[in-house]
Amino acid sequence: MASTISCDVAVVGAGLAGGMIALALKARHPTLDVRLIDSAETVGGNHLWSFFGSDVDTADRWIVAPLVVHAWRGYDVDFPGHRRTIDATYYSIESVRLDAEVRRVLPPHALMLGRKVLGASATAVVLGDGDRIEATGVIDARGPGDLSLLDLAWQKFLGRELKLGAVHKAPRPMVMDASVEQLDGYRFVYCLPFKPRRMFVEDTYYSDTPDLDLPVLRTRIDAYVAQRKWQVKAIEREESGVLPVAMGGDFEAYWRSGGARVAKAGMRAGMFHPTTGYSLPDAVRTAAMIAGMSDFSGARLHDATHAMARTTWKSRGFYRMLDTMLFRASEPEERYRILERFYRLSPSLIGRFYAGRSTMTDKARILTGKPPVPIARAVRAIAGMSRA
Ligand SMILES: Cc1cc2nc3c(=O)[nH]c(=O)nc-3n(C[C@H](O)[C@H](O)[C@H](O)COP(=O)(O)OP(=O)(O)OC[C@H]3O[C@@H](n4cnc5c(N)ncnc54)[C@H](O)[C@@H]3O)c2cc1C
Repeated sequence: MASTISCDVAVVGAGLAGGMIALALKARHPTLDVRLIDSAETVGGNHLWSFFGSDVDTADRWIVAPLVVHAWRGYDVDFPGHRRTIDATYYSIESVRLDAEVRRVLPPHALMLGRKVLGASATAVVLGDGDRIEATGVIDARGPGDLSLLDLAWQKFLGRELKLGAVHKAPRPMVMDASVEQLDGYRFVYCLPFKPRRMFVEDTYYSDTPDLDLPVLRTRIDAYVAQRKWQVKAIEREESGVLPVAMGGDFEAYWRSGGARVAKAGMRAGMFHPTTGYSLPDAVRTAAMIAGMSDFSGARLHDATHAMARTTWKSRGFYRMLDTMLFRASEPEERYRILERFYRLSPSLIGRFYAGRSTMTDKARILTGKPPVPIARAVRAIAGMSRA
């Protein structure tokens, strides 16, 4: 028989954003009855989430610290015209760790997995099995809303975690190896040395289309690995993604598409970096903000998450303009030149770029000098930007 469950906060979607909100809420408000609901049987799906140390405020590190599985000092980039090691900290979180941490912190009844959600309002959640949750406030973190309301290009990739037969000797992450053949837009390979005999290798494309031909990408990863003379003993895990790269769009319509008047977090709130499609830094900020609240009514949660997402979207027009130049003003096979030039800039500027905190001086610095795209075409592309 269908039942009604009452609680303080219902977090819908136990992915990156929902998982971190539940953890942060329990840390700051231990007596709060928080429910975390997902249709899957595990928290976080099959993911590796990486971020730079400078992406997360010192005051918010407590949220990510228990989740970090790999940490490095320094990373490499490689382009046809130059190679460079950049001094910065880099971290990875594995979804199995997020799953374990949520199970450790939340009481068993609070983690409602294998429960498909049919609909959510500001104060109620309807489950596929007929049960209903009534909450003081609901936060919807079920992944993207209607992405067709945004003007997008794509960052798409296939990653494989490899067990190697011999030590690889790679000292640090290779965040962009763009010395590879340029195909389907801007292409690079991303490698994370997890352990001396374990390497994560990802083939990535900044592409005009979201299609992902997995068999072809597997072949390209094999070729890259063979060229590096890494002997593969086993493929331990595989993940793929197609992430939005935003050039413009109607933020308010996108927000409403995920449920009008319902609090939102993560991709559903449009909280991702326009250029990378990465959402971890914003998800940490959102979790910290919600954990700092004391009124968890649906209306208050909606207003707080909406205000944060709208301010964030408005502040990122510069990145959407750069994306427009990357995709609309340069030939696909020439796109790497823009990134090559960007990676000659200072490490602190690069760090602020990925954190979405570029200063006016950074922006001027990124745009000055001999542009790697034809000026007239860039001006036309920017003039044609949809509502950004
Ligand atoms: C393979 C991959 C790698 C990525 N790597 C990075 C990275 O390194 N760094 C970074 O910052 N970003 C990365 N991203 C981008 C982005 O940060 C992730 O997509 C992130 O997981 C988005 O978080 P989210 O909480 O919004 O959504 P998700 O983590 O996708 O969580 C949404 C959850 O909602 C659940 N759900 C959906 N519909 C329902 C329903 N009807 N009922 C119940 N549950 C439902 C899903 O099962 C899922 O668990 C990556 C994305 C992918 C796909």
